[in-house]
Amino acid sequence: MPNVSFVPHAADRLTAVLAQLKTYLGEKVSTNHAVCEAHSHGEALDLARMPAAVIFAQTTEDVSTALAICHAAYVPVVAFGAGTSVEGHVTPPEHAISLDLSRMTEVLQVNAADMDCRVQAGLTRQDLNARLRDTGLFFPVDPGGEATLGGMCATRASGTAAVHYGTMKENVLGLTVVMANGEVIKTGGRVRKSSTGYDLTSLFVGSEGTLGIITEIQLRLHGIPEQLSAAICQFENLEDAVRTAVEIIQAGVPIARVELMDDVQMAASIRYSGLDELRPITTLFFEFAGAPASVREQVAVTEMLAGDNNGLAFAWADTPDERNRLWKARHNAFWAVKALCPGARVISTDCIVPISRLAELIVALRPIFRLPGCRPPFWDMSGMVIFTRLSSPTTARRGTDRRWSLTVGLWPVHWNWKGHAVGSTA
Ligand SMILES: Cc1cc2nc3c(=O)[nH]c(=O)nc-3n(C[C@H](O)[C@H](O)[C@H](O)COP(=O)(O)OP(=O)(O)OC[C@H]3O[C@@H](n4cnc5c(N)ncnc54)[C@H](O)[C@@H]3O)c2cc1C
Repeated sequence: MPNVSFVPHAADRLTAVLAQLKTYLGEKVSTNHAVCEAHSHGEALDLARMPAAVIFAQTTEDVSTALAICHAAYVPVVAFGAGTSVEGHVTPPEHAISLDLSRMTEVLQVNAADMDCRVQAGLTRQDLNARLRDTGLFFPVDPGGEATLGGMCATRASGTAAVHYGTMKENVLGLTVVMANGEVIKTGGRVRKSSTGYDLTSLFVGSEGTLGIITEIQLRLHGIPEQLSAAICQFENLEDAVRTAVEIIQAGVPIARVELMDDVQMAASIRYSGLDELRPITTLFFEFAGAPASVREQVAVTEMLAGDNNGLAFAWADTPDERNRLWKARHNAFWAVKALCPGARVISTDCIVPISRLAELIVALRPIFRLPGCRPPFWDMSGMVIFTRLSSPTTARRGTDRRWSLTVGLWPVHWNWKGHAVGSTA
């Protein structure tokens, strides 16, 4: 006969675990209602559950201690960076603990000559770039919000600059990770090319906290470009704008960012971000970076391709303030959508298709989101032409309202468009 041991009920295990956690981690463990509520959900999805406690880790050892204790008692732990993920990632299961990394904000090393650095996982991208200011280097991956670099690793974040600099996958050289049982491992290193052993770094980047908790990250840095220039081009027709973006990528223009917003998203963003000089029609946002001669060449090719596809005149934003205003409007697209329908929740996910099918996908999905009960679609195509990533948030009322069920019922369409589209949430 096997030796069967009975595990106490989850609630009893939690009581014992909390007592142990408080013994080892003291005030880093909080059961305060407001703290737990703030860790019960991320952005968007109407999905929230209170954790039994929140642990504010400050070191790799704290994370290791917390995981070892919880692992031994079968208590689930969910990592929490800044909570900006939009697909229910940080919502804990029942009787679980939220492990908050946001106090781990040290820059541990900057190797300017090798263009890399090592940071703790709770540091935000903005804070890292502020601390790198005097080095002439920066970290380019930009998912918009004040996300932590650990959360960005875990979600393999992309964002507006990915078309030029790549996603987290291309910009993480190594990691320190705490496994579920508290064991600490190191992956990768500082060298850019290595054919020795398994590529564990890539396995953890994008694993969304399911394989281990990342506590330190070795990041690749880039030189701040000599010249930056931003422009927008508006189109009467969505297909023309998509074709322009695709042709820019196919022509090999090393554009720093290219983003598309459709007429409905533009109307929302004009109202929310005060872009009164623009019309509520499909718009491409561009950023060009590099040496002045290279920027001139990129601009010339882009203007030619846009013109060939019926683009209207380019509007330029050359000063840092103008550029920031434009890109802030893009990053605020999510909030602009939310503001259109007070009391509603935004649901967003990604669709991924080969670049040649992008225009077709957008056109095919549009009518679906014009169904009665759904708000119109808000295409938000982020630095993604290269990845053919398409986020299409729709809004729906909460609760038992039947429009909510209708919108949720549309998800399978998102996920399975001609065998290509892939939703990244569950
Ligand atoms: C307005 C808006 C725009 C956005 N635009 C983009 C975009 O363009 N591109 C994009 O990629 N994302 C985008 N996002 C989503 C979000 O910002 C990213 O997913 C971001 O990388 C999440 O980082 P975070 O620190 O907030 O992580 P959290 O939301 O706290 O966590 C995300 C996931 O990672 C896990 N996790 C967090 N920290 C760790 C860690 N140290 N170790 C292991 N697992 C961990 C969590 O358990 C969770 O599963 C956007 C979000 C908003 C609100």
